[in-house]
Amino acid sequence: MGKKALVTGASRGIGRAIAEELASQGYDLYLTCLHSMASLTGYAEELGKKYGSFCQAFQGDMGNPEDVERLFSSIRSLDALVNNAGISYIGLLQDMTPEEWNRVLSTNLTSCFLTCRQAIPLMLHAGGGRILNISSVWGAVGASTEAAYSASKGAVNSLTKALAKELAPSNIQVNALACGVIDTDMNRCFTPEEMQALMEEIPAGRLGTPKEAAALAGQILNAPDYMTGQIITLDGGWI
Ligand code: NAD
Repeated sequence: MGKKALVTGASRGIGRAIAEELASQGYDLYLTCLHSMASLTGYAEELGKKYGSFCQAFQGDMGNPEDVERLFSSIRSLDALVNNAGISYIGLLQDMTPEEWNRVLSTNLTSCFLTCRQAIPLMLHAGGGRILNISSVWGAVGASTEAAYSASKGAVNSLTKALAKELAPSNIQVNALACGVIDTDMNRCFTPEEMQALMEEIPAGRLGTPKEAAALAGQILNAPDYMTGQIITLDGGWI
């Protein structure tokens, strides 16, 4: 039987690139999106044809327990879980409503809890598995005007380390990929001038590409079993 992976938030950006990387490695895929079901279904078909893999699209909010249960109701086995779905929020903390705070925390953090609690029994049954959480450099150092986002990614890092300890005896490795600035729609809120200023701060002199993030994600999923509980940074030397 082929290897199976679930990638959340695969309709665009980093998740979309990770889906192609894993399809090229021979994984069958479960891909999720929040709204873009038509385009994700088309993409799943495209990957299926290109790499000969089974790819299934699913629409749902990964921060919602019922949606995650519905997703897992059709998954019988899973070798790799990539928790990529995420949103940012830019603004002063005092201007943020409790609803906006909850949405950031539920999408970025609770989603990891909800998918992990469904995936772990499948991985235990198979004798092992891999979990990769897509985090951010802001999870380690924090960013002004991104306090909720930073808090959510800091918690993702702690969850990664704690869960790695909990699951290492069961041969399930848990790691995180902490990205710097990657060129995706998530950063379209910045003006060209702001992007230019950002690039000048980054020693590599440019943004990372979704393909680079996906290539590293693929390598982490293939790392030796002894690597677990690690937060691996991809940021062009920035932080
Ligand atoms: P993006 O906005 O291009 O894509 C986000 C994806 O998540 C989309 O497919 C969207 O449908 C999905 N999504 C959003 N909310 C969801 C929900 N509630 N349930 C299910 N899916 C949902 O963003 P991206 O830049 O590709 O980001 C992917 C991940 O990488 C995120 O976790 C993000 O925090 C992280 N990251 C991105 C950057 C960056 O600079 N782009 C930097 C550090 C970390």
